[in-house]
Amino acid sequence: MKTDFPEYACDYSKRLASVSAAFAKQVYDPKSSRGGADDEVEKYGPDPFGELTHASKCFGLKQRFKDRVLIMTSDRCFMNCRHCTRRGLLGKAQVVRTRSQLDACVDYVRARPEVRDVLLSGGDILTLSDKEVMRFVDAFAALEQIDIVRVCTRALCTNPGRVTDKLAKALSKSGKVWVNTQFNCADELTAEAREAAAKLINRGIPVSCQSVLLKGVNDSAPKMIKLLKALSAARIRPYYVFMCDPVAGIGRFRVPVEKAREIERRAAESLGGLSLPRFVADIPGARRKTPI
Ligand code: SF4
Repeated sequence: MKTDFPEYACDYSKRLASVSAAFAKQVYDPKSSRGGADDEVEKYGPDPFGELTHASKCFGLKQRFKDRVLIMTSDRCFMNCRHCTRRGLLGKAQVVRTRSQLDACVDYVRARPEVRDVLLSGGDILTLSDKEVMRFVDAFAALEQIDIVRVCTRALCTNPGRVTDKLAKALSKSGKVWVNTQFNCADELTAEAREAAAKLINRGIPVSCQSVLLKGVNDSAPKMIKLLKALSAARIRPYYVFMCDPVAGIGRFRVPVEKAREIERRAAESLGGLSLPRFVADIPGARRKTPI
């Protein structure tokens, strides 16, 4: 299945790609596979988690799990990661832009007291202005039932200058914000990236990392251990390492599960618990992230 997901990277990401082959693999398609098919997962199509259909509960709000919802805040990112799960959706997804659309999402959550965790995702929410970001954060943080407002952004890796002191201060105010990000190789933990993380952490905002296991990027124990050590040194909690999702067009990044298990085993033998993420797969229809 072909997907329409053009290469795009902001200046910072382009600079990083010019000095890191592992990062460049996430930015550029190899010439041989441009626009290529991925027969292995054609059965899933571009929307394996039903984000355009059954998981979509009201305009711009997705719910797959009982205690949490995901809000589509933006359909843009600082780069179009070649392994992106939503590569078939960005540009087509419903994005919450108006006050009434946001109010409808808040009403949906308020009517379901079991929801305690809101993911502000996309796309990358930090492509929005500070004012727009805080409009989302404040709307959900104000609900008593909400314990966690997750700001889901790869900006710490792809455009760390976006994380300013002013933004960190605003995000810290409710005491409910957690930042979830994505680093996939140690090269990405640049001085700028570490500084961006420190701005948030020093304000009391937990920063966690969800990496993706990617062939040619981090698919060996030494590379993965180097990444996990670099994250810990930056005080970023490694949280999950995901197997590639069953979406079309990313077959060249897939790592066999046996190899993933071996990497996990060697990481566990080398690192303490605080540096050790859970290796999981997100399987359509499963009620949890599935340990490998
Ligand atoms: S930042 Fe996230 S949503 Fe955006 S392209 Fe990369 S993986 Fe996809």
